[in-house]
Amino acid sequence: MSGGRKHGNLPIFVPHIGCPHRCTFCDQRTISGAKTAPTPKDVEKLCIDALSLDPDRELELAFFGGSFTAIDRDYMISLLKAADKFVGKGIVGIRLSTRPDAVGEEVLGILKRYHVTAIELGVQSMSDEILAKNRRGHTAADVYGAVERIKKFGFELGLQMMIGLDGDTEDTTLYTAEKIIDFAPDTVRIYPTIALDHTELGERLKRGEYTALTLEDGVRRTARVMELFGEKAPDIRIIRVGLHPSEEVEQNMLGGPYHPAFRELCESEIMKKRLLSQLEKLEKGSYRVLVNPKDISRMNGQKRNNIQSLAALGYDITVKGDERIKPLYPTVDRL
Ligand code: SF4
Repeated sequence: MSGGRKHGNLPIFVPHIGCPHRCTFCDQRTISGAKTAPTPKDVEKLCIDALSLDPDRELELAFFGGSFTAIDRDYMISLLKAADKFVGKGIVGIRLSTRPDAVGEEVLGILKRYHVTAIELGVQSMSDEILAKNRRGHTAADVYGAVERIKKFGFELGLQMMIGLDGDTEDTTLYTAEKIIDFAPDTVRIYPTIALDHTELGERLKRGEYTALTLEDGVRRTARVMELFGEKAPDIRIIRVGLHPSEEVEQNMLGGPYHPAFRELCESEIMKKRLLSQLEKLEKGSYRVLVNPKDISRMNGQKRNNIQSLAALGYDITVKGDERIKPLYPTVDRL
């Protein structure tokens, strides 16, 4: 993006009107908070309002929530046309999310014409068994084809994965993460699975057929995936970890690792692991630990639980902020 102007997203939620069926975990209305499908007029109004409120910001319009390229073709084009009027006049591009089986060459050509810049695919899992069990309606092979075409057309590529779907294990989570790394997307979003009321997964949970991840396991597993991305593919930007905090999710959730600051919890876990790997080479005792000043609360953990669990292992830690320290990389100093 040019000129050092602030960048922002202007989200428009398109509920699952384009989806051929319902995935087991999906209650888009709860997740996105959107009750009705937007009209082209809504899109125009949103752009006009946002641009007049903050004319100095570079805004990217984001059609999120449903399967954008699977919605009725005329309706899809009417939304794109409404958005396209503002491209180059404050809106720098359009991004959208969709399904891996809904990105054929014809629709990609249409998206190109209306200045769509980035496409995010809901991959969720690269195991066909898990995809089928969660009624995704597409296969891992569809993801290979979709990724290839999106790259061929020159769009920015985003991939989304889920952790803790029905049938998912630590191994299949890591397998999916490895495959996503191989696809070399520009961005990734990682969502832990939350079982919501009024969904198939919620029903399975009530019947005892599905066990949701606990918050602790969800954080641990997600932190492992984030570390894997950091180690093997630091250029892939992790733009989201965990669902957006929302009252509707909180009111409708039956199980699963939901927390309004989920990413923060995962980063806190990563910092604890990194610190522990240094401490384990040292005598038990008291140490001062230097962290980037922005990471002091992450290092301490929620309710100081990192400090307490390290103390239980025999390491008394005092945390000190130091600008020279790389974010998320605590460094043991002396005391
Ligand atoms: S494809 Fe996405 S929006 Fe559609 S039902 Fe599945 S999870 Fe929901």
